[in-house]
This record gives sequence, C-alpha cells and structure tokens, in this order.
Amino acid sequence: MRSAIKVKVGNITIGGGSPVVVQSMTDTATADIDKTINQILALERAGSEIVRITVNDEAAAKAVPIIKQALAEKGSHVPLVGDFHYNGHRLLKAYPECAKALDKYRINPGNVGFGKKKDTQFAEIIACAVQYNKPVRIGVNWGSLDQELLAKLMDENNQNGSPLSAREIMHKALIESALQSARYAEELGLSEDKIIISCKVSEVQDLVIVYQQLAERCKYPLHLGLTEAGMGIKGIVASSVSLGILLQQGIGDTIRVSLTPEPGAPRTNEVKVCREILQSMGLRAFTPTVSSCPGCGRTTSSFFRELADTIDQHLTVKMHDWKTRYQGVENMKVAVMGCVVNGPGESKHANIGISLPGTGEVPVAPVFIDGKKAHTLRGEEIASEFIDIVNDYVDRTYKALET
Ligand code: SF4
Repeated sequence: MRSAIKVKVGNITIGGGSPVVVQSMTDTATADIDKTINQILALERAGSEIVRITVNDEAAAKAVPIIKQALAEKGSHVPLVGDFHYNGHRLLKAYPECAKALDKYRINPGNVGFGKKKDTQFAEIIACAVQYNKPVRIGVNWGSLDQELLAKLMDENNQNGSPLSAREIMHKALIESALQSARYAEELGLSEDKIIISCKVSEVQDLVIVYQQLAERCKYPLHLGLTEAGMGIKGIVASSVSLGILLQQGIGDTIRVSLTPEPGAPRTNEVKVCREILQSMGLRAFTPTVSSCPGCGRTTSSFFRELADTIDQHLTVKMHDWKTRYQGVENMKVAVMGCVVNGPGESKHANIGISLPGTGEVPVAPVFIDGKKAHTLRGEEIASEFIDIVNDYVDRTYKALET
C-alpha cells in the first residue's frame, strides 16, 4: 500500500494519500549556475514537481543558494533536492546556506563513508537535516551497495543450512541497508515524516521483488525508479513496465525515470515518460489525451498520422493556458481515427473524435462530440477546422477557474 506518512518536500507532499509525485534530475554541473537554472526551469515546465541536483563539491554547494534565489526571482518554487555522495557531511556543515536552501537531502548509505567513519558521517548529515528541518531520502543503489553489509549477510547465509541464492542475498542487503539507515536516522532524532526510502536496481524483476518486500517491511513513502534504465525505447519500456507493476500494486509514492538521453534529445523526456506512466494508468491527469489508431492498409494516406500529431502538439501547447483557466480540461479525451472500422466507435467514447475516410470511403470526416455526430468535415481545411472545434468545446465545457 502507498505510505500513510506525509513527507513535505518544499511545497510538495509525498505520501499520505497524495498523488504520486513526478521527479527528475539535472545533468548539468551544478556549479554552472546559468545552465543548471535553465535546466531546472525546463524540467519544471515539462512537469517535474521536484528536481534533484548533484552537490558534489564546494563550488556546487556555493551555487545552490544562488540557484534557489534566482529560481524564486523567476517565479519558480520547485523543490530542490541535493544529491550527496562521500562528502555530504562536510559540505552541509561547511555551507549552511546550501543546507538551508535545499528542500531535501538524498544520501546513499553505500557512499556516506567507509569503516568507522560511516556512522559518524551519516550522523552528521542527519544532524543537519534535523537542524534545518529537512526531509531525507535514504537512497540505496545496487551499484553502490554497502559492501560491509553485503559481506556480512553473505557470511551469515553461508552458515545457513538452506542458504539463499546470491541474488536473494543482494535483495536482502538492499532492503536492510535502507531500513537500518532509516532506523538509525530516527534514533538520531529525524522524525518518521522526514524519511523517504528508495532501493534502486537496473533489472525489472529485481526491482519488483525488492520493492514488494520493502513495502511489506516499512511504513515510509517509497521513491520508485529503475536505475540506469538505458536509452530510448529500451529505457522507456523497462521503466514503464517495472513502475507500472509496482504502482498497480499500490507501491510507490514518487517516481523518477532514469533515462540516458539520446544524442540531442532533451533531458525533459524523463519527465514526459513519468507523466505518461501516471496518466495512462489513470493515477494522475496532466493533459488531454489523444487516442489514435495505428493505421493499416485501409488508411488512405499519412494524413491521419499528421492530424493526430498536430492535435497532440496543439493540446500540449494550449494546455499551458487552459490549465490556468479551465477546471478539469486535463481529463479531456480526443480520438483521431483512420477509417470507418473503429473510427466512429472510438470517437464516440472520446469527448471529441474524428473518423477520417479510409480507402474507398466517401471523402468526408464525421466529428463526434460527447458521443453524438456533430459535424462532417471535408476538403483541405479538416485539420484547422477540427482544432477550432476542439477549442470551442473546451471553452463551452470546462468550468472557468476563479482568478
Ligand atoms: S481504425 Fe481503420 S485505419 Fe485505423 S487501424 Fe483500424 S481498420 Fe485500420
């Protein structure tokens, strides 16, 4: 089940029955202030509700409060999460303005420190979180799993009469690392409503098993993500499948999709994928959806593909304005279909649908509004006329928001 505990991260609530939150992470050097600000704004515009930035050295720590201030001056209050590895204890203590400016700290128990220093350095980070009243994500990753804990569990397993497989021990180590760290953080004075947990792996089946076990064993809100998901379609599919399985089981309070951007592709794609996952599952509604058929031998031309794309882009662009003016417009469904076989039926299920003429059909395009045939379009201007009908429908149908 999703966590009953509410964790406030800046102006966003994670857990406690809140909608599943979309997160992303920059890939700029945080010390490059302008680039980082621009990327944070782009991620926020794309729909990221929380943005993580790396805080890996003194220059980055110095940049954080400047970035926070500049974002506020531009009207952005998107919560910022600082990602710390190895030196977080030093940076947070040495740069209190950085510690104050961040809305959450992400720490990885496998990278906090080694040997005897591990607990003291972890405690120093938690002390900062308590002092500045900040939540912490205890983010375990199998690429940097606590090796001492793993070795201990392996040794114990070897003494066991019926030992678990190495993979099962790895799952156990991930979960133990997160939960032991969370317990220790609470002992150090961090309240339970300041803790979020993640245990990221890069294989779908491992992720599902680990999070199912984690959800059974802890009360904290869970951050879901398939780490190192990869590039392009592979990364999108693997992330969607794994997050979809878990979200459907009620597991996960916030998500990130860790895509490797393809050359030239925008960083914001990872946000789009998160939103598509949540919207396609009916967990959130961000923007009107366009249903379109795949096309087949009955489709007379690529016109219907172009129309589907034009409508999709039109809705995305218009949504920036509509969401400030109309209540519920994000739930609108538009259908763009290629022929009479499924066209009228699918169009009737949508708020507005158009059924384009397929091969051999009379060259007219019936438009259905709320299940009833309302117009018949023909000629060269079908696309622009259909867009006018959509705009008019929004104006007539959705309640104006009070300003
Ligand atoms: S609606 Fe028509 S054009 Fe589209 S896939 Fe079905 S049969 Fe083909």
